[in-house]
Amino acid sequence: MKAFDHRKYRAAPVINLPDRQWPNRTITRAPRWASVDLRDGNQALLEPMNVGQKRRLWALLVKLGFKEIEVGFPSASQPDYDFVRWLIEAKQIPDDVTLQVLVQAREDLILRTFDALKGAKRAIVHVYNSTSTVQRERVFGLDRDGIIKIASQGAAMVKREADKHPETEWTFEYSPESFSNTEVDFAVAVCEAVMDVWQPSAEKPCIINLPSTVESTTPNVYADQIEYFATRISRRDALILSVHTHNDRGCGVAAAELAVLAGADRVEGTLLGNGERTGNMDITTMAMNLYSQGVDPELDLSNPDEIIAVAQECTGIALHPRHPWFGELVYTAFSGSHQDAIRKCLHQQKEDEPWQVAYLPIDPKDLGRDYQAVIRVNSQSGKGGVAFVLERDYGLVLPRWLQVDLAQVVQKASEARSGEIDGASIHALFRQNFVVDQGAVALHGYQIRHEGGHDVVEATISENGAQRQLHGEGEGALSAFIDALMRFSGRQINVVDYSEHAIGAGTDAEAAAYVQLNINGQRYSGAGFDHDTVSASLKAVLSALNRACSIAGEAMAA
Ligand SMILES: [Zn+2]
Repeated sequence: MKAFDHRKYRAAPVINLPDRQWPNRTITRAPRWASVDLRDGNQALLEPMNVGQKRRLWALLVKLGFKEIEVGFPSASQPDYDFVRWLIEAKQIPDDVTLQVLVQAREDLILRTFDALKGAKRAIVHVYNSTSTVQRERVFGLDRDGIIKIASQGAAMVKREADKHPETEWTFEYSPESFSNTEVDFAVAVCEAVMDVWQPSAEKPCIINLPSTVESTTPNVYADQIEYFATRISRRDALILSVHTHNDRGCGVAAAELAVLAGADRVEGTLLGNGERTGNMDITTMAMNLYSQGVDPELDLSNPDEIIAVAQECTGIALHPRHPWFGELVYTAFSGSHQDAIRKCLHQQKEDEPWQVAYLPIDPKDLGRDYQAVIRVNSQSGKGGVAFVLERDYGLVLPRWLQVDLAQVVQKASEARSGEIDGASIHALFRQNFVVDQGAVALHGYQIRHEGGHDVVEATISENGAQRQLHGEGEGALSAFIDALMRFSGRQINVVDYSEHAIGAGTDAEAAAYVQLNINGQRYSGAGFDHDTVSASLKAVLSALNRACSIAGEAMAA
């Protein structure tokens, strides 16, 4: 066999579940979240968190609104034991938050775990043993009965120790570890044995947690496993069905979501998906997925920058710039057509209506991000990005034809620099190319009078320093000035389009004028600015003419 050979692997078994219900359901409320950052997340780190890091992460998890937090494996690790003691003794656990600790189904470890929890007001003791075929046959060398015996003995020890400490309000959690690779009928049998010991009730339920310890199927298969389990286990109202997925195939979140559709009440995961191998399922992503569908995620994720900073400080792992919802590039559009669409939608989006913006599934402002990062301009950007930047930063509302002309100039400049172009550079390119009323030809003054049913303009211009008096006539100042320029330059000039707007408000608002001229059969755009609208429009005409002459490399005078 060569090294890269798919024949080395077998497809994971699927479940025959023709009456499955989960595909027809939608998630309408958040599941119970349980953070396993301080346990599963921590044990996956090259360098486990120190005391300071654990305290910071704990504080963040509480602040975000987690009510169940697995803080460690106190029987297996002295730092975890000490951390649990500190939480209890220093009274760090809010009244509505429950501590959770993990322990293997072994007597010495269970005793030490209850030691660690002494004095806790409430606690979840999470006991597990491995149940998958591979673990049974190759790791433990036990048959099914042997595995069931480990589970029920562990459950009994947990119950016995809990009964010794009635001052604490105990919840029991059991995980058939590697559930997703366990025959589902056998998983049901193991969990029945555990519940026979615990005797949970609707008033005092236990948690049954079904981990996809290693993700090895498409998420629909996992959902089938969950629905199969949920519909066949007895005492369904006496258990909280929990899932714990990993991201080996990149579907950790999808698997948890489909599992919730299939009947799971509770989801274990970590912030930003830290954890063994490819990580645990990312609670922030799943919660934001809910949020974006109008479902209250029941976690306060309004400040992702804090989550990212604390997570990185504690795990040493930086966030991918394209991480769902929170990555640095998530609200950035590079493509011109995307930018154009976003700009149009944002323009029409009203405060009090549902969010309807193309390419932006949520309002970045919800996460303390803004539109600043939405538009970047590089050689891939079209007119939309350019127009957005000029409007946002300079108050200029360019007509469409000028957007197109400017975008071409920006694109050329961007390609020459082979990189991004910022707002100031776009503005500079705009002025250099389209606001050239002080170019080779400049306007020094003009007078307009109404005479014999039309307008007459007398203008003073200079070309390369030499002053000239121009005379023109027409309907309105603009056409009179163009008449003057036609006589002066000997060119045929027509106005294709014209628009103007005020920049800012009040009496000292400046006027912006944009004109597209057809000069001897070619279109040229120009812009002009002045405190007076007429002057702005004449300057715009001169800009377009100067641009035409400079492109043609000709003098303006005939
Ligand atoms: Zn895990």
